[in-house]
Amino acid sequence: MSALTEEENLMIAEKHISVLDHGFVELIDSMGTDLTVVNSARVSFGKRKTELSEGDKKLIKYLAEHKHWSPFRHVQLQFHCKVPEFVARQWYKHVVGIAYTDSATVDHAWNEISLRYVDASEFHFYAPDGFRKQSENNKQASTDELVKDPEGQLMAEYNNHCQKSLDLYHRMLEHGVAREQARGVLPLNIYTEFYWTVSLQALVNFIHLRTHEGAQYEIRLFADALQQLTQQVVPVSFEALLG
Ligand SMILES: Cc1cc2nc3c(=O)[nH]c(=O)nc-3n(C[C@H](O)[C@H](O)[C@H](O)COP(=O)(O)OP(=O)(O)OC[C@H]3O[C@@H](n4cnc5c(N)ncnc54)[C@H](O)[C@@H]3O)c2cc1C
Repeated sequence: MSALTEEENLMIAEKHISVLDHGFVELIDSMGTDLTVVNSARVSFGKRKTELSEGDKKLIKYLAEHKHWSPFRHVQLQFHCKVPEFVARQWYKHVVGIAYTDSATVDHAWNEISLRYVDASEFHFYAPDGFRKQSENNKQASTDELVKDPEGQLMAEYNNHCQKSLDLYHRMLEHGVAREQARGVLPLNIYTEFYWTVSLQALVNFIHLRTHEGAQYEIRLFADALQQLTQQVVPVSFEALLG
């Protein structure tokens, strides 16, 4: 039986968005609200507000329009994410994270499950609903059109390949091979999990780039989930920055 109350379970559900077949984004914690942005800016005048007024909303819009980013960096959000490895590789390119750093660029708070510690049997493989066709005019992208696979033969082979890679992984472990080397046979669609703490400014940059139609379909779904969760925390700032 769950030790949580119904209300607590509801609160968790509102902060947890399932993505793809086994993935999710969950808002674990956040520091700051729209008022944090306002007060960070108003400290210049020695002022502090306790309630957000219409004037404050205009101030937030002004800050965003004129690229006064630093007040937005005082808002921090922490997410627990479960994504396919190939999505994590793209995510990890966003190197700017938390505000409190002694370096301008390299400090982002990211901690990830490790296949050096954990047996891969506990992991999932991402199985898409279908295979998208390669775009002809964009070398990086796919189209919305699906490859014909009426009998599901290609999908079966894909899933079979994942299972075979896991079988080989297990055989290697049985031979005493270290987990850190055996993991090398696992495909890129294996799910990974990480905690990610990020400032609102860096998060908005991520969402802007990764909800764009040029981004891969799968990471776009995760960026959409981040967007929904962030809007709950800072609706006015979010609208000002991305609206
Ligand atoms: C559709 C798409 C395709 C991509 N394809 C590829 C690819 O093929 N190969 C590949 O390697 N990457 C690729 N990327 C990743 C891309 O090049 C960026 O590394 C990634 O999007 C992170 O963006 P960012 O630097 O804005 O984010 P962050 O690293 O979070 O940086 C946030 C902001 O901080 C500032 N900043 C960061 N670092 C510095 C710095 N050193 N100096 C000054 N200002 C800084 C910039 O304003 C930056 O926008 C792709 C990204 C997208 C969206």
